[in-house]
Amino acid sequence: QVKSRGKDGYCFFDSSMTVDTSNRLGLERDLRRALACDELEVHYQPQICLRSGRMTSVEALVRWRHPERGLLLPGEFLPLASETNLMADISDKVLTTACREVGRWIAAGHRDLRLAVNLSPAQVEHPEFVERLVAQLRLLHFPARNLEIEITENVIMNDLAQVSQTLRELARHGVKIAVDDFGTGYSSLNYLHHLPIHILKVDRSFVQGVRAGNDGACIVNAIVAMAHGLKLEIVAEGVENQDQLDYLSEIGCQRVQGFFCGRPQSGADIGALLDQPPIHLAV
Ligand code: C2E
Ligand code: MG
Ligand code: MG
Ligand code: MG
Repeated sequence: QVKSRGKDGYCFFDSSMTVDTSNRLGLERDLRRALACDELEVHYQPQICLRSGRMTSVEALVRWRHPERGLLLPGEFLPLASETNLMADISDKVLTTACREVGRWIAAGHRDLRLAVNLSPAQVEHPEFVERLVAQLRLLHFPARNLEIEITENVIMNDLAQVSQTLRELARHGVKIAVDDFGTGYSSLNYLHHLPIHILKVDRSFVQGVRAGNDGACIVNAIVAMAHGLKLEIVAEGVENQDQLDYLSEIGCQRVQGFFCGRPQSGADIGALLDQPPIHLAV
């Protein structure tokens, strides 16, 4: 991996590079400032229910509006955040911001709108996570049943006993649990029987190649069939064109998310979308 480094020591980095010590300090300082100065924003990507054509959920995705570098995506700063223990602060910030904003839309009449939030490993493994989350939801008047949390298979397998307890407590409060990037982690399928999982999010890499008859389609078919058998809801990620949408609809996928259905966008833009009639997805 090649980094372009100027004489002044300024160093560009992206998600494909590990953060070395020489630029870590600068970026860490930047990231702390970002937290203190409110440079972190939450964008929301629509999830569309294929039956109704309605935006029934939004996934919260963090962004950093950097004063010099513009809008940064999570891949450009979350690796650094987890290396520097800033992940917990960022996650708290995302959760509060998203619950506050989406909570307003729920209170304004979009009663069933769900908010999906990605959890970091550190959050899930924190012993007081559920207690603090529930307290925060109460404070913000955000109904727990409108919240979905997304975790990856790797996080589940990392500490199965602890995660299992955390998910059980969350489910008891009415929070829904989604497995993110399903099919790409290092895990057995055994946990699906033992954990309170409600939703599988089929990873984008499988959705990319769906067209009847090819390998991509075989894997998506198998995941959807399994989900039906286990009575889990399916959300397909990364839907980018009509062909994929048609295929997913045909095999009984309930929800879709992807650039074809809506990009991640600001709260203001989502708020405006919510007041429009359901989008017509021709399937
Ligand atoms: P994810 O949770 O799997 O989120 C979906 C990612 O796929 C988003 O990237 C989204 O912009 C992108 N995406 C959605 N539809 C399409 C599509 O049709 N085509 C393509 N090519 N991409 C699509 P983003 O926002 O860059 O986020 C990347 C990852 O960063 C997320 O993957 C999630 O794992 C993590 N992340 C984002 N926000 C947070 C956060 O607040 N907390 C934590 N812990 N992780 C986060
Ligand atoms: Mg996600
Ligand atoms: Mg995902
Ligand atoms: Mg993904």
